[in-house]
Amino acid sequence: MFDTDLIKTDFPILDRKVNGCPLVYLDNAATTQKPRQVMDASRHYYEALNSNIHRGTHSLARSATATFEKARITIASHLRAAATEEVIFTSGTTDGINLVANVLALSGTIQAGDEILISTLEHHSNIVPWQMLCQRTGAVLKVIPCLDDGTLDQAAFKTLLSPRTNLLALTWVSNAFGTIIPVREMTAAAKAVGALVLIDAAQAAPHLPIDVQTLGADFLVLSGHKVYATTGIGVLWGKASVLNGLPPWRGGGEMIKDVTFARTTYNELPFKFEAGTPNIEGAIALAAAFDYINELGLARIHEWECHLAGLAVQGLKDIDGLRLYGPQDHSGIVSFGIEGLHHYDLGTLLDQMGVAVRTGHHCCQPLMARFGITGTTRASFALYNSETDVEAFVAAVHKTVTMLR
Ligand code: PMP
Repeated sequence: MFDTDLIKTDFPILDRKVNGCPLVYLDNAATTQKPRQVMDASRHYYEALNSNIHRGTHSLARSATATFEKARITIASHLRAAATEEVIFTSGTTDGINLVANVLALSGTIQAGDEILISTLEHHSNIVPWQMLCQRTGAVLKVIPCLDDGTLDQAAFKTLLSPRTNLLALTWVSNAFGTIIPVREMTAAAKAVGALVLIDAAQAAPHLPIDVQTLGADFLVLSGHKVYATTGIGVLWGKASVLNGLPPWRGGGEMIKDVTFARTTYNELPFKFEAGTPNIEGAIALAAAFDYINELGLARIHEWECHLAGLAVQGLKDIDGLRLYGPQDHSGIVSFGIEGLHHYDLGTLLDQMGVAVRTGHHCCQPLMARFGITGTTRASFALYNSETDVEAFVAAVHKTVTMLR
């Protein structure tokens, strides 16, 4: 289905050994490895173009500006944005959510008594900024419960929605369990009561095609490092009509039109929200990463990752005391616990065999509390993982279980 031998040649790090064993990297939901194409784009920027952007008249400054703005066009087209200026560069998902939370407070959009609706599946970065916003404004945080199968309780969602709901902030794919949330339907329901909608696409972006126009949300955030680009770059997409009505958050260079000591007028989108020198190389790398995954095709990538996750589940299912978390039509994530085994012990011993998985709460402590656990072991698959990786992972888990029992 997928020539992972060939794909792996794009990822030099996958060649290395860890603890004397070939690296089997299954911590992709924490961050993905980077292909040469992305690293080449970063290197090319520093070797041939490095200069600050937007203000310089010299050739390097103009080339750097053009490459940076071309990256914005590539990203806008990947997201199917109606306009390029709807793409705001951030340092990542966390930064994008904090930006939205702060401008909603500054603008008075969220006020005392308003309700902000999130879900039990959220990453801390889609919980804490809203808690902080509630403390600041007197708004109230409401949480959509999660069912035992790791999906959201849609009946409860419908009862929680009301004209008091000012904002729905929802993850598209759970980084802890892999649950895919029906964001389109939930967005439509939230829009019907007049709420704003923010979609956390950090875990969706590496696996699912995004079309912000059919999604119907007002904001969408993602992180570059989870889609094969570098750390420190991310995107906040916002509907132009909504962003235009919101004030800037950070002040400084770039976000201004005119400054006097008496008053400042602000720049237009997207610059209004991009104070200071941005991560120029990161934006270029992110565009290269989207080019890379689009060449392979997201539908094929997703199908392959689900195939691998299915194989992993097959390989684990006979282990005594295995508990799988999340629905099994997952998105390339296998999150599990084994009775009597601590996930840290399991993760540490897997590492001794070169298998990198994530153990712990996955920055989703309230979700772990809902299931009465402190964490899970999570194998998360990416486009370069092979069936051989799955076999090595399954064999290593079986070996560890035998050792520890
Ligand atoms: N939301 C989700 C669903 C995530 O998976 C992550 C990263 N694990 C984040 C938010 C936070 O992303 P970042 O740390 O890149 O800001």
